[in-house]
Amino acid sequence: MGCVLCEHCSALCCQYIALEIDEPDTARDYDDIRWYLMHEDMSVFVEDGDWYLQINRRCKNLLPDNRCGIYETRPEICREYTTEDCDYHGGPYDYDHLFKEPAELEAFAAEALRKKKARKHGNGGVKKKSSKRGAKLRRAS
Ligand code: SF4
Ligand code: SF4
Repeated sequence: MGCVLCEHCSALCCQYIALEIDEPDTARDYDDIRWYLMHEDMSVFVEDGDWYLQINRRCKNLLPDNRCGIYETRPEICREYTTEDCDYHGGPYDYDHLFKEPAELEAFAAEALRKKKARKHGNGGVKKKSSKRGAKLRRAS
């Protein structure tokens, strides 16, 4: 922050943090991410195949005029961030996927797990043997 471009921006890059998380693989993994999304100000996005938890909270050091209140001692990650392709300059973000609500993740998970099952069975996920349908009922004696 502090460059000319930043003068025109509402400090978009200081309004969240994003932490890389493991790519979900199982129903339990997806359920954990669904739980993240049940909390306020959370979103999850996928970029270049990598999954991130985004916490949409502004930095405590951001001043009301959107300038950094600790500019001289700001963290390295803030120093390394440049206006080149930044949140303001880079235009609309090109997510692979963006999840803001648990239901969005649920729908994605159902499809991903269905495809995984289909790959495992190699036949579209359809079991070759029939299940309990047609099995005889046993009576308790
Ligand atoms: S998003 Fe870009 S323009 Fe806005 S404050 Fe951050 S670096 Fe500056
Ligand atoms: S420390 Fe300063 S530059 Fe870094 S996120 Fe906070 S307000 Fe922005």
